[in-house]
Amino acid sequence: MEFELTEEQRDIKKAAKEFAEGEFDRELARELEQKHEFPWEIWRKACELGFIGIHFPEEFGGGGYGIFENVLVVEEFCRVDSGIGIALSLSDFASEVILRFGTKEQKEKYLTPLTQGKAISAGGFTEPDHGSDITLMSTQAIKEGDEFVINGTKTFITNGVIADYVVVLCQTNFDASPTYRGQSTIIVEKGTPGFEATEVGEKMGIKMTSTAELSFRDVRVPAENLVGEENRGFYQVLEFFDESRIEIAAQAVGIAQGAYERALQYAKERMQFGRKIAEFQAIQHKLAEMATKIETARLLLYKAAWNFDQGRIDPKLTSMAKFYAGRVAVEVADEAIQIFGGYGYIADYDVERFYRDARITEIYEGTREIQKNTIASAIVGKWKK
Ligand SMILES: Cc1cc2nc3c(=O)[nH]c(=O)nc-3n(C[C@H](O)[C@H](O)[C@H](O)COP(=O)(O)OP(=O)(O)OC[C@H]3O[C@@H](n4cnc5c(N)ncnc54)[C@H](O)[C@@H]3O)c2cc1C
Repeated sequence: MEFELTEEQRDIKKAAKEFAEGEFDRELARELEQKHEFPWEIWRKACELGFIGIHFPEEFGGGGYGIFENVLVVEEFCRVDSGIGIALSLSDFASEVILRFGTKEQKEKYLTPLTQGKAISAGGFTEPDHGSDITLMSTQAIKEGDEFVINGTKTFITNGVIADYVVVLCQTNFDASPTYRGQSTIIVEKGTPGFEATEVGEKMGIKMTSTAELSFRDVRVPAENLVGEENRGFYQVLEFFDESRIEIAAQAVGIAQGAYERALQYAKERMQFGRKIAEFQAIQHKLAEMATKIETARLLLYKAAWNFDQGRIDPKLTSMAKFYAGRVAVEVADEAIQIFGGYGYIADYDVERFYRDARITEIYEGTREIQKNTIASAIVGKWKK
């Protein structure tokens, strides 16, 4: 594999860097985090400049690029600000299910507005009783004439209260064996009677991003809101995870890089015992380890993204990238706090926020343990009971 970026990719990375450094104001970031507010204005500008949906085909408002270019943007955004970066990178969350499996009409209706700054999307897979294990959904969608009637609850749904629509994983066949062969993805639009979203409450990080419980009570949607083939939803979501996990790994690498750069800068300025702390070998070794881990995580991330763009689905490689990059983000942000000493614990210096934001990359889109299960199952095979 060729790890050197093409000239076009370098230009995209540079444009993302310039945009983020120009627009992601530190004071504003802290204010938005405190108010738990989505960065609406920055998001609209990011859409105008073509950063959101850069991986969609041009006919649906996208840039016609692959996930690799999307990764470059997400990485750069999260490097400059973990909170704003994650909020923007998840603004089109789960739309890729429609991109991969939807009809042309669905793509026009649901993808184009995401790139124009007119809509936000969400993906509802997790339920109160089904988190890591989504092989059976309690949320049911029953066909009645030319409609689906949906009942159930989803939880921890990113963008829940601000999303214009949600791609919902529902059980559509109750006799299917195994159960996951009876699942379908269905689009539910905001404002549909019986559909409600409520914030789950205070969380550790990514506070500019809404995280909601969704309730569906006799929610009626047209049968044409079904994405792809009926009862293929589980397989669609697994394929989607192969892409979205790479994007989460990009968030993680960006956060790690941002925390590292702040720590390096601080180490070169902070004086103790009459010397810059960067002169102490203990600090140098920390920086060396941080830089090495980031470099390794980035290589895995780029390999996974490149592989995906070749049209190959490789859950092992994707899980390796997500698991490793997430761990590196948390470890590097942790060491960054240490290098800042007491100041690292104070909100003004950003690294504590990077640390809190990094932690989610080891939980959503499949926990660290689930990624290891995926890697292990590819290495040693599945054990039959
Ligand atoms: C801020 C936030 C945003 C989120 N956004 C979304 C979203 O947009 N859409 C969505 O659908 N979901 C979303 N999630 C949900 C997230 O994907 C789940 O929380 C995650 O998949 C884990 O599920 P769970 O919380 O039910 O934990 P559980 O599945 O109950 O797991 C608990 C613990 O057991 C471990 N465990 C479970 N099964 C195994 C196993 N087989 N082997 C080893 N260990 C295991 C887990 O790794 C974990 O450590 C979000 C969550 C958060 C916190």
